[in-house]
Amino acid sequence: GEFGPERPGRVTAHFGRSLDVEAVDDSGQRHRHRCHMRANMDGLVTGDRVVWRQANDDSGVVVARGERDSVLERPDARGQLKPVAANLDQILIVFAAEPEPHANLIDRYLVAAEATGITPVLVLNKVDLLPEHGGELRDLLDRYEALGYPVVLASVKQQDGLDALHQRLTGRTSVFVGQSGVGKSSLIDRLLPDHALRIGALSEDSRKGTHTTTTAMLYHLPAGGELIDSPGIREFGLTHLDAEQVTVGFIEFHDYLGRCRFRDCRHREEPGCALLAAVERGDIHPQRFASYRRILASLESDGE
Ligand code: GDP
Ligand code: ZN
Repeated sequence: GEFGPERPGRVTAHFGRSLDVEAVDDSGQRHRHRCHMRANMDGLVTGDRVVWRQANDDSGVVVARGERDSVLERPDARGQLKPVAANLDQILIVFAAEPEPHANLIDRYLVAAEATGITPVLVLNKVDLLPEHGGELRDLLDRYEALGYPVVLASVKQQDGLDALHQRLTGRTSVFVGQSGVGKSSLIDRLLPDHALRIGALSEDSRKGTHTTTTAMLYHLPAGGELIDSPGIREFGLTHLDAEQVTVGFIEFHDYLGRCRFRDCRHREEPGCALLAAVERGDIHPQRFASYRRILASLESDGE
């Protein structure tokens, strides 16, 4: 027929009903092919593994989607959760010495990341702005590290910590998330070679006029591994969570859940609450517990 044999590929960008699919040819070279999806193939996103067939030219058609290891979702304009990227290994939560983060904000990101099942990594940028001894922010980070979260300190300005970041990214598929102004663009500019960014820009350019600028793009890192990035992905973490996700999102609570005297314990003032007892003993940090209560309270005021 008009199409070649089925081949494996990975989605590197998606624009409405068309996609860029990357495949490795017989000589080991990567090529991107503009593909369309069959009508029954809705919902492909950047990072998806697919089966595709090449047409007589460079273009092709996607015929199947591989199973997803993980998926990152964002609410659309109607508040419905929609997948935006798939097969991620880690979410790099970037914050900075300035604007200074509240512990509560970091906890929100961590809860959102835990809900996806994708490993979160904390990246503190602008360490050049920290006081000599590190200050409160360093103490805060030490606590997250003690909980088992990987922490990377960086300064784009002083070219500090970029090796450690490279190591963290190598061989994995990652996204950067975090508030505006923390240095995500600056970090990504340093991590990606110019040509990778150019390929991304070209791919976007070729779509101009097709109302598409917010697609997630997959970039290859020089030492192996990929970065998936888009404005929408960077805003991850602001999505709605339910109370159960919040509770489970505090990983040091796991040992105590199900041990409260009352099955429906809300961990407020109930006698025999295992969580409150753990806070009392110092096994759970009071600031994390306060954060938990604040996040729950914010859900309730959302109208839950
Ligand atoms: P984004 O909104 O998260 O993408 O942040 P940007 O990458 O646009 O950075 C915001 C501002 O912080 C810019 O003015 C950067 O030059 C500055 N910036 C980025 N990294 C550093 C850093 O390591 N140290 C300092 N002092 N400033 C930085
Ligand atoms: Zn309890």
